[in-house]
Order: sequence, then structure tokens, then C-alpha cells
Amino acid sequence: MEDLQIQLLIDLHRSNFRQGPGGEAETKQALKLAGLDKSHPLKIADIGCGTGASTVVLARELDAEITAVDFLPEFLEELQIRSKKEGVAEKITPLSCSMDALPFSEEEFDVILSEGAVYNIGFETGISSWRRFLKPGGKLIVSEITWLSAARPSELQAYWKGEYPEIDLASAKIEILERHHYSPEAYFLLPSHCWLENYYHPMRSSFDAFLARNHQSAQAKEIVACEKAEIALYEKYRDYYSYGVYIAKRI
Ligand code: SAH
Repeated sequence: MEDLQIQLLIDLHRSNFRQGPGGEAETKQALKLAGLDKSHPLKIADIGCGTGASTVVLARELDAEITAVDFLPEFLEELQIRSKKEGVAEKITPLSCSMDALPFSEEEFDVILSEGAVYNIGFETGISSWRRFLKPGGKLIVSEITWLSAARPSELQAYWKGEYPEIDLASAKIEILERHHYSPEAYFLLPSHCWLENYYHPMRSSFDAFLARNHQSAQAKEIVACEKAEIALYEKYRDYYSYGVYIAKRI
């Protein structure tokens, strides 16, 4: 991706509450399903944390030391402002790093959580390469775009195959987890308010100001057009796909 486009994407997304579908209640639900051992402070990595929507929930809910990883320092700056406001900054260490070159030690973490981000390197690459950083018995909590039906309208199929060819059924994602020596323990779907109220609608409300800040440039308009197309597709076909939240234990 060219530099200007990245700068525009940062500009569009940094002031929003989250950078992908999700929700506070759903992060808490995932933590509950993971059945964490709270008898000692937990070491957690939040990978592809964006501006920290999930990170601050982890920090509020748990006695934990959290490493918040994102390759965009601009998002991590927002995360630091937000975590200070929430009074949880001392629990969070931001780390600007690519998720495919993590500097962690073997068996360092009790939990690895990644919301709406693993697709950047692909689900299978992500979950297999992160496994060694989990303690034996440690928990992986990862959300991944997922087909809800074996049959899909061709327009939708073509769009997502272009955007993310690894999109697949939950059964296929669970099989990948099993093949890479995880024991899948729970799975649930993000409800549509996680896409619309929590992500798409706030983003849509920021389009006009984004275009004005960027002088109605062709590149800015192109980004808005792409986001609008993605939103329209979701509104039309939301019965066919969502994010699945997968909870699995390292065995
Ligand atoms: N978890 C956040 C952000 C999801 S958007 C939320 O739910 O709101 C995906 C995030 O992954 C973005 O913040 C993006 O900057 C980050 N990202 C994309 N590719 C990455 C990579 N290779 N390494 C680290 N972070 C990456």
C-alpha cells in the first residue's frame, strides 16, 4: 500500500472508538468463556490492538500485564491517551511491531487476544506462528471473518474472495485450530450491532469531516467509496457472514 493511502486510512480510523467490528460485552463474553485462572496476574498480548478498544477492557477486567501490539504508532498514541483517561495505563505496554515479527519469548503469555486483525497475515499463519508464545494451557482468543452458510450469493462470495480469500466457515476455522495443536473450547458470533452501531455507523459519521480535512482529494474519495461499498454489502448480506470469536487452548 502506498504511503499516502496509509496516512489517509490512519486519518479516517484513528479518532474512531474501534477499527473493526466488536464490542465491550463481546470481549467480556470471550474472557468468561476462556475460563481464565485469576489466581495470579496474567500476561496478555493484544495483537493488532488499534486504538485499544479491547485493550482497555482487558485492563479494566483483569489483574494483568498487557502488551498492546500494532504496527501503526499513531494508533498506539491514541491507545495511550485513552488508557490514561481510563486510569489503566500502568497495566499496558504499547509495542509498535508487525504481527508477523513479534519479539516475544517462547511460552511468555497466558492469553493472546486478537480482535479483527489476524486477517492481515491470514488466520492460519497468525494462529500457527503465535502458538509458541503461549504457555502450555494458555488461551487464544481470536476473531475472524466467517461464513455463516455453506451457500452464498455470488456477489458476496466474489467480493470477499477478492478482499480476503481465507474467509471460510467456522467448521474450517476450527479444523485449522485443531491441526495446529489448539483445543477449540468455545465459539460465538458477533451480533450485528458490533458491526453497525459499534463500527460502521461511527465511521460513516466521520466521512464528511475526513473528506473536508483532506480537501476532497481523489484518494480520500476512493477510500470513502470503498468503505461505503463494504457497509452496503454488510447491510444487504449480513445473514451470510460475521466475525466468529474463537477461543482455544494451547495443548
Ligand atoms: N483490534 C482493534 C483493531 C482492529 S483493525 C479493534 O478491534 O478495534 C486491525 C488492526 O491491525 C489495525 O489497528 C492495524 O493497524 C493493525 N495491523 C494491520 N496489519 C498489521 C501487522 N502486520 N502487524 C501489526 N498490526 C497490524
